Amino acid sequence: MYKAIVIDKQDGNYVATLNEVTGSELMPGDVDIDVLYSTLNYKDALAITGKSPVVRHFPMVPGIDFVGKVSTSSHPDYQPGQFVILNGWGVGEKHWGGLAQKARVNGDWLVPLPTQFEAKDAMAIGTAGYTAMLCVMALERHGVTPERGEILVTGAAGGVGSVAVAILSKLGYSVTALSGRVEQEAQFLSQLGAQNVIHRSELEGAGKPLAKERWAGVVDVVGSHVLANACASTQYGGVVAACGLAGGMDLPATVAPFILRGVTLAGIDSVMCPKALRVEAWQRLASELELNKLNMIAHEITLNEVIATAADLLDGKVRGRVIVDVN
Ligand code: NDP
Repeated sequence: MYKAIVIDKQDGNYVATLNEVTGSELMPGDVDIDVLYSTLNYKDALAITGKSPVVRHFPMVPGIDFVGKVSTSSHPDYQPGQFVILNGWGVGEKHWGGLAQKARVNGDWLVPLPTQFEAKDAMAIGTAGYTAMLCVMALERHGVTPERGEILVTGAAGGVGSVAVAILSKLGYSVTALSGRVEQEAQFLSQLGAQNVIHRSELEGAGKPLAKERWAGVVDVVGSHVLANACASTQYGGVVAACGLAGGMDLPATVAPFILRGVTLAGIDSVMCPKALRVEAWQRLASELELNKLNMIAHEITLNEVIATAADLLDGKVRGRVIVDVN
């Protein structure tokens, strides 16, 4: 028997509980892992609260990421005792996930833990931090260098945003952090390396098709009007990496920034991202993210606290990243 958060459907509603389950219930896979840490990402919070139809079948153990130690493996790349990371691949949505003491997955989904990291560091980063790195890599791929000018990071005090601010400032970019919690979080965001902190209201609501050119690049986790207004105020030839929908799934924009200013809208997906890109992102996180900043960004909770914290996260009350010690 081991502990897991389990989501079930009762009378059409999602009900999440902390439960004891048996190993025989684990879903098919060729690597068994003793999970050490998981995290609470936005998608996990949607799954646990049932606010969005993230879970594809029931019962489901949520947790889109984890770090752990291989206990048994019939996969050629993994041996017992090895430390591994998992992000995405539908884990926590259609395959039992990381908010549990044990997991069984397809070894092709795993990434070895970079040697620079302790297990807990990997989950201080988690899927949110790995996605932040994918966004930064997209900006670079499209030629956004620090000399090009300011980078806007939206939803900056959340998981993806805070790691993006830390990485970009370490790489020498001038970062402007957009947050709805400027009074509480301006100091935190400055400590992470943001040169400016502006209030979310500056980019909320319906805006013009084109606004004053400001950003060389954007990392957007919010979507909706904020994303539309960010595109409208991106410099000629700039790049907007869109990865989130914390403010809405819609995109009430015009094509003007794309056809008149050559702006690139780069979509970022961490779930089905090819393995080579994942390994590159994790290697870069290991070399380019300062661990002292990670300590500022992440705090730890237990499995008992996951369900209550999920609601707080969706209410925008959680700073940075949430590590879950599943043991
Ligand atoms: P968090 O909840 O940690 O952070 C989201 C932040 O967005 C909040 O802290 C808040 O920042 C801001 N925010 C929240 N609600 C609103 C709102 N109504 N309007 C505008 N801003 C808002 O989530 P994560 O960082 O883990 O994830 C952020 C987004 O990225 C989510 O939509 C998530 O689904 C997505 N995501 C996508 C991935 C992918 O593969 N594409 C992978 C990982 C995440 P502040 O208080 O500073 O304003």
